[in-house]
Amino acid sequence: MRAWNFSAGPAALPQAVLERAQRELMDWNGSGASVMEQSHRGKRFIAMAEQAEADLRELAAIPDDYAVLFLQGGATQHFAQIPMNLAGEGERADYIVTGHWGEKAASEAAPYVAVNIAASGKAGQYRGLPPRESWRLDPRAAYVHYTPNETIHGVEFRDVPEVGEVPLVADMSSDILSAPIDVKRFGLIYAGAQKNIGPSGLVVMIVRRDLLARPGRPMAKIFRYAEHAAQHSMLNTPNTWGWYIAGLTFQWLKAQGGLAAMAARNRAKAEALYAAIDGSGGYYVNPVDPAARSRMNVPFTLRDAALDAAFLAESEAAGLLALKGHKALGGMRASLYNAVPMEAVQALVDFMADFARRHG
Ligand code: PMP
Repeated sequence: MRAWNFSAGPAALPQAVLERAQRELMDWNGSGASVMEQSHRGKRFIAMAEQAEADLRELAAIPDDYAVLFLQGGATQHFAQIPMNLAGEGERADYIVTGHWGEKAASEAAPYVAVNIAASGKAGQYRGLPPRESWRLDPRAAYVHYTPNETIHGVEFRDVPEVGEVPLVADMSSDILSAPIDVKRFGLIYAGAQKNIGPSGLVVMIVRRDLLARPGRPMAKIFRYAEHAAQHSMLNTPNTWGWYIAGLTFQWLKAQGGLAAMAARNRAKAEALYAAIDGSGGYYVNPVDPAARSRMNVPFTLRDAALDAAFLAESEAAGLLALKGHKALGGMRASLYNAVPMEAVQALVDFMADFARRHG
């Protein structure tokens, strides 16, 4: 029996994707071996990889002047690799910090670029977004980095911020493909796969080709995005399993009606959960400014933290997994990525009401 899985990541995958991977595990595509057991340079794998890219391009309406890369290292490695590629010696970059991951992105970038924290929500404990008029952007920055959705703090931008001519770099690890993406507004989008795309160990990057021509820093080829692009993400052995599952997820998303359909579902799911929290008379609390509440990650606390352990034990027994909040915030967190259906959210909301009644 599969439980309803609210894990922040690695997170729930669509059941149809897992079932298909299971069916194909022993003999993929008539090859007599699993997808993990054959060359990434074979014709079957190359056809699959090209199809995955084509499906992602179609889903997110990615223009031709953007390259799509399937990389490794997790989002964290790219916190460092992005400045290595986009900034030359002595250059500066702006960071908009709205939570834990933005902080981490800025600190990992610091050895490679002069980091300017152009705006930060830290003083307000990351419970909202710093107002756009307070940002101190540098028009000569190499790029502006932000985190559209902060996975731990549950803070999300509703709109793509306007930053002028400076390329906008977005860590979309926890919101990619949850709604349509206006790719043209970005210089570079990157995401660890393990929330909305597939297994961990894969990073999907969408990067404007002119940025690949930047000299960046002296570095080994393996770090240079332009080399990966030139070799179609096969500069070395890619994460073949991850790429394959990502491809299945893209097909699943297309069958679901694409990103606009996912956005409508994700909105309805989040509204149902926030309504349950806000309607609980303070039994459950989400501290985030309603204008910046995440649709993907919903942190909440119980009025009486002494009941946390009972909430976790009973929810797990009821088939609701991974509701424990991040240690930085305590309490609970429900992640509502694409593969989490409304039915799961309904089960959670019903459980929360029942728990409050029984332990009120
Ligand atoms: N950025 C965000 C927004 C994340 O949620 C995470 C992981 N939870 C990371 C970066 C780090 O990803 P990875 O573990 O793949 O390096």
